[in-house]
Amino acid sequence: MPHHPITVAGVEVFPLCDAVGPMGDSIRRPLPEMFPGGCHGESDEWILHFHCYLLRDAVGRVVLVDTGIGPEDSPAASWAPVPGVLGAELARVGVSPEEVDAVVITHLHSDHASGTVIGGVPVFANARHVFQRAEIDTAAEEILDHVVRPLGERVQVVDGQADVLPGIRVIHTPGHTLGHQVVQVGDLVLSGDVVLHPTQLADPKVTYLYDADPELAAATRVELLERVRAEGGMIATAHFAEPFTVIR
Ligand SMILES: [Zn+2]
Ligand SMILES: [Zn+2]
Repeated sequence: MPHHPITVAGVEVFPLCDAVGPMGDSIRRPLPEMFPGGCHGESDEWILHFHCYLLRDAVGRVVLVDTGIGPEDSPAASWAPVPGVLGAELARVGVSPEEVDAVVITHLHSDHASGTVIGGVPVFANARHVFQRAEIDTAAEEILDHVVRPLGERVQVVDGQADVLPGIRVIHTPGHTLGHQVVQVGDLVLSGDVVLHPTQLADPKVTYLYDADPELAAATRVELLERVRAEGGMIATAHFAEPFTVIR
């Protein structure tokens, strides 16, 4: 089922559902191990959605947030349900890869960045690709080789808060990775992996097994959700079944 777009502050926000499935055996653990202290049903299996988002502003400029799990031979193939269908999802909403003006990578994990470069060739040939400096500085060599270096001059490195386009900004939100960033549009935050599972809405202090710095990730999550709640805003998540969640 395709997810439906919304419009926020004059920007259309299209959820692109790259894949749906459980984690592969290589990294799957019972939910109480992945989210210690979180509330779970006894036999709940975590079925992840893998969402990217397309933003189109009032004058038609296009920003893609994350590029998903990538093709059959992607680095994500060891644990995610490859191949992703980002290309078909883009076509569904009427956008060709050449029309993307900017790509924001929330963080350099293989399920968020593996559709950026395929077969050594940048997929979004006309786009600048926005990364936090802290992410480039701390990512594994393997993913830098696979995703970042082939982009050449298409790489745009930012430090902290920066406008991608007027009204579309990135904010550094470290913890899940040290250079993780979210995207803010009006009162909507595209939250990447700051929030992975609904149990972290019930208690934002619940950490995740694969956070680079779980304490910092929890502090970032608490702060972000507090702010969004105070603004009466929403988050758009990478891995929930429903893309948009109002924070109450
Ligand atoms: Zn989905
Ligand atoms: Zn991640």
